[in-house]
Amino acid sequence: MSLFDLTGRWAIVTGANTGIGQAIAIGLADAGADIVGVGRSAMTETEEKVVSGGRRFLSTTVDLSLAGKAGDVIGEALASGATPDILVNNAGIIRRADALDFTEEDWDAVLDTNLKATFFLCQAFAKAAISAGRPAKIINIASLLSFQGGIRVPSYTAAKSGLAGLTKLMANEWAAKGINVNAIAPGYVETNNTTALRADAERSADILKRIPAGRWARADDMVGAAVFLAASASDYVHGTILPVDGGWLAR
Ligand code: NAP
Repeated sequence: MSLFDLTGRWAIVTGANTGIGQAIAIGLADAGADIVGVGRSAMTETEEKVVSGGRRFLSTTVDLSLAGKAGDVIGEALASGATPDILVNNAGIIRRADALDFTEEDWDAVLDTNLKATFFLCQAFAKAAISAGRPAKIINIASLLSFQGGIRVPSYTAAKSGLAGLTKLMANEWAAKGINVNAIAPGYVETNNTTALRADAERSADILKRIPAGRWARADDMVGAAVFLAASASDYVHGTILPVDGGWLAR
């Protein structure tokens, strides 16, 4: 079997309707996986692409910022016949304001979605994988702000830095139980998440100048790393935060 073949595996991908989550869902399907899309918006386009490539697509509609939903997501996926093979925690939001003006609402919204929901999804998924006796892969979508401070995004930086730590903690606890927990840290990607940043001509030009690859990332630049971390090729890779950033962190 190819080191990168995902035939026969199910991948649960949160935020699969657009951006990085959509690209990863389609990319994992192209590598052979069937997909459970999880999100708060319709995932019609993703479903069409996955199904037209010959894979199955199930969807679960949920607002992940609400407490207690993570267990339901995994329970629903299992009840629909999916197995706990791969979990991609991609859903996330960002709120921008100076640290001096940052509100508690913007703090809670980002932490609830980007960190709390992710942890409890990992927990529910890991319990299911361990009780089924199945090896499994968790891929968290981190950020450059898992390594750097950034500006005007305090709750996002806290969440993504926390996610890097949690990825390592979960790897430490679950590696011997057959679960690989890793993360991808995308650089600057052209998605809804960065619309405001790209609309700011000065910030956008400053960012571009610093990217050794000389361009922003496209969502599908994340697919290779996701397939690697989902496949047997990465069986001995645990607790890593893999930057896919056009060289940004090397500068
Ligand atoms: P995006 O296009 O805004 O996609 C975010 C996804 O998360 C959407 O599907 C969104 O659904 C979903 N989502 C947000 N809140 C949710 C909630 N409460 N419940 C369920 N789903 C929710 O942004 P993206 O750039 O692809 O972001 C994907 C991930 O990559 C995020 O974790 C982000 O932090 C990370 N990231 C992005 C960049 C970048 O430069 N773009 C860089 C580093 C890391 P809706 O469409 O309904 O809002």
